[in-house]
Amino acid sequence: MIIILKPNATAEQREAFTDALKSYYNVNVNTWEGVQSTVLGLIGDTSPIDIDFVNAQTIVESVRRVQEPYKKANRKFHPDNTVIEFANGVKIGDGSVQYMAGPCSVESQEQILEIAHKVKKAGATILRGGAFKPRTSPYAFQGLKAEGMEFLSAAKKETGLLIVTEITRVSHLPLFKDVDIIQVGARNMQNFELLKEIGKSKKPVLLKRGLASTIEEWLMSAEYIMSEGNDQIMLCERGIRTYESMTRNTMDISAIPIVKRLSHLPVIADPSHATGKSWLVEPMSMASVAAGADGLIIEVHNNPSKALSDGAQSLTPEQFGDVAAKVDSLKAALGRI
Ligand code: PEP
Ligand code: MN
Repeated sequence: MIIILKPNATAEQREAFTDALKSYYNVNVNTWEGVQSTVLGLIGDTSPIDIDFVNAQTIVESVRRVQEPYKKANRKFHPDNTVIEFANGVKIGDGSVQYMAGPCSVESQEQILEIAHKVKKAGATILRGGAFKPRTSPYAFQGLKAEGMEFLSAAKKETGLLIVTEITRVSHLPLFKDVDIIQVGARNMQNFELLKEIGKSKKPVLLKRGLASTIEEWLMSAEYIMSEGNDQIMLCERGIRTYESMTRNTMDISAIPIVKRLSHLPVIADPSHATGKSWLVEPMSMASVAAGADGLIIEVHNNPSKALSDGAQSLTPEQFGDVAAKVDSLKAALGRI
């Protein structure tokens, strides 16, 4: 961290500030005295330092980080890819491309079972389906809640697929015992109390990028989970809010290689929520895998026009099969497994 002091900072003020930094944060401070101003270079672990606190000091002109504020999620301190391995042998982050597929919402036992069998046949290893739905309108379908969780468990038992489903509040954690991957939705990416509790749970997490979050904020949310001891995190690019109205969100494909460069955590792409349009799922799936995604999460419904949520972006099981086949040939061309 580099701190530039104001030209009128006195030697006493400078010394008091330097001593405070050293004792509060256990860092070493190098001082360069120029003609106009003084520059402090902080050496050591500066991640706990609150940049706003530094900026608020009257003698500080400006401050800049030269080290990322996330440590556990940082590839610098963990050069190898994190590989998440499940009891049935499925691995995420090992160079393979895993397919997570299923409806936006679990609607009935029959619906989730039918879709589970069909997506499995098409190559999915993980079944998605929301039971607790964070909807923009309080009048929209809110999910089948605990009953939906039971339907998911039954589908897991019958098909052997792993399950991923979204959590919306800490008190629901006991309902997630049978869940293989806990999804933290875009709207909860910065629900820090939820992140900390999930960090204690040790279950793999799919952390979606917030609607208006920077890559660094997203990685800091991963850091929240990791700081509690859970390092099994997948980061999910699901599009961000921009001025573009042709798509539901703007899919930030460049975030995939950027995150993979900055972090060792696997990256999953969600072309369904990123675009909001079923016909865009195939090209965006291809683009995501070409950009290095470790997996795709795709909404699939047995009857998209009757879906209780997100029908316009849902594929039929047959369409999902076609997308998976195309991505499989791209995988082969890329030398992915
Ligand atoms: C979902 O996966 O159905 C969902 C609500 O996703 P997001 O949090 O990305 O909007
Ligand atoms: Mn959805």
